[in-house]
Amino acid sequence: NNASSRSSSSSSSSSSSSRSSSNRTALLTELASLVCAAAQPCAQPCAQHVLFISRYTLYTRTWLGYLYYKREMRKAREHYPAGHSRAQPVEFNGIKIIPISVLSDNYSYLVIDTASSVAVAVDPADPQTVQAVLKEEGVMLEAIFCTHKHWDHSGGNKGLKRLHSSCRVYGNATDNIPGLTHPLSHRDSITVGRMQFKALFTPGHTVGHMIYLLDGRTIGAPSSLFSGDLVFLSGCGRIFEGSATTMLSSLDIVGSLSDDTLLWPGHEYAEDNLLFAAEVEPRNAARENKYQWVLQQRGRKLCTVRMMHRHCYASLACRPKRGFMLSGTWEEGLITSLQHMCCQMPECSLSSHLVLFLGLPSSFICGTVGSTAKVQHLEN
Ligand SMILES: [Zn+2]
Repeated sequence: NNASSRSSSSSSSSSSSSRSSSNRTALLTELASLVCAAAQPCAQPCAQHVLFISRYTLYTRTWLGYLYYKREMRKAREHYPAGHSRAQPVEFNGIKIIPISVLSDNYSYLVIDTASSVAVAVDPADPQTVQAVLKEEGVMLEAIFCTHKHWDHSGGNKGLKRLHSSCRVYGNATDNIPGLTHPLSHRDSITVGRMQFKALFTPGHTVGHMIYLLDGRTIGAPSSLFSGDLVFLSGCGRIFEGSATTMLSSLDIVGSLSDDTLLWPGHEYAEDNLLFAAEVEPRNAARENKYQWVLQQRGRKLCTVRMMHRHCYASLACRPKRGFMLSGTWEEGLITSLQHMCCQMPECSLSSHLVLFLGLPSSFICGTVGSTAKVQHLEN
């Protein structure tokens, strides 16, 4: 849900004439600027944090959040009539994965068993757009997999369910998923057509965040991870609801997956993440190569999803205010980094990104190597 904070600066310049409309704009802008990175208190709770919790509660618990989501969806449809990115579907032995660009930088996915013409939709946030693809493909929607409650992931559940009444809606019960019919626990299995999925409980971004792993073994293909807002190419989600330790455990689940797992994240954040990584590690060639590739892709409006996660690398990088330095073991550093994400650094919208980028072996992903010391000396 980082997108909302990023768009806040541009939406705040609205010059609405009527008072009530400007109040509404201010409220929506407030909702949009979820810049304070976590719901749990800093070492020294501040007024900003209290304000953040109020805004976040309004966004996640009340109809104001839903109105905000609807407004963002309208804006995105005007802005990107053909979507923010061009879809590049892939097919493995009759299992087709179609990324669908929705809102300003979200991805929904359709996973289709072409033999039985049944589909799963992952986070179908814009029901109209997802329905158009279902129709084009001529398939039946059998299940919705919802990663978490944020409207930019769950907002389309009920709309699609109305169109496909037998469709099952999966997610974690602690996350207030709209339209939920099938609550899931960690490592629950779900079968749709020939497709075997495993749901993995990965709290931190929200209390009930789930990710979904399509088992590649049954279809003679690499496994595919639909990671929602837990992990993106070169970054991870904000810790809105949980501690750094919780988030690290969730990231470790991704780190433990097989090396050839394909990553299908919930947002197109790679360029921003790698731009930030460049500030932290300017001389890292792997980071630079990845960044150049991402620029090429984005120059042609192509997705950067579907990256092999085996090459991901966690860098202990979190934007410093002044001379922030990470030291100690890999895990200590990572936790420090994640905790730092919990404290707001509103001057930089990229500050909340833990940097993960391609180039080093998978054993380095997300703190799975606890004993490796890595010290980042950062200048003021
Ligand atoms: Zn989110």
